[in-house]
Amino acid sequence: MVRLETPGRRVKTLYERLTSRRPMTDASPYSNATRSLMPVRPKRHQPQSPATPQHKTADQERGTSSQRGYNYRWQQSRKGFLAKHPLCVHCEQRGRVTAATDVDHIVPHRGDMELFWDRTNWQGLCHPCHSVKTATEDGGWGNRRNR
Ligand SMILES: [Zn+2]
Repeated sequence: MVRLETPGRRVKTLYERLTSRRPMTDASPYSNATRSLMPVRPKRHQPQSPATPQHKTADQERGTSSQRGYNYRWQQSRKGFLAKHPLCVHCEQRGRVTAATDVDHIVPHRGDMELFWDRTNWQGLCHPCHSVKTATEDGGWGNRRNR
């Protein structure tokens, strides 16, 4: 009779210890030796950001189906443009020869589709140069619509 109480108490103590000391960080559900006493279902690991930032950007761009079509058209157009303008314009201005990987809008289109598709407003840039330019535009002091 008395024996029956002992395991019950032990279970409760362990349970309390487990629940109270469950660490928020570095929690490994498998390291706790609770299996024999209480079946604890390990939390399913659900990665919150399955994609790299690059993928995320592509996903955000994907958006609606109409935007997807627009993206496809853009991909085709930029490919054709880069084939004709294979060098980074900014690097060229500094006497460097670098392959252009990005099509940049010389004047930021800011959603203006006419400006967006205006090829005279396009230039080929390498990725570093494009990043620098984009950062400058979004950096707060870049309201230079005309340059
Ligand atoms: Zn460049």
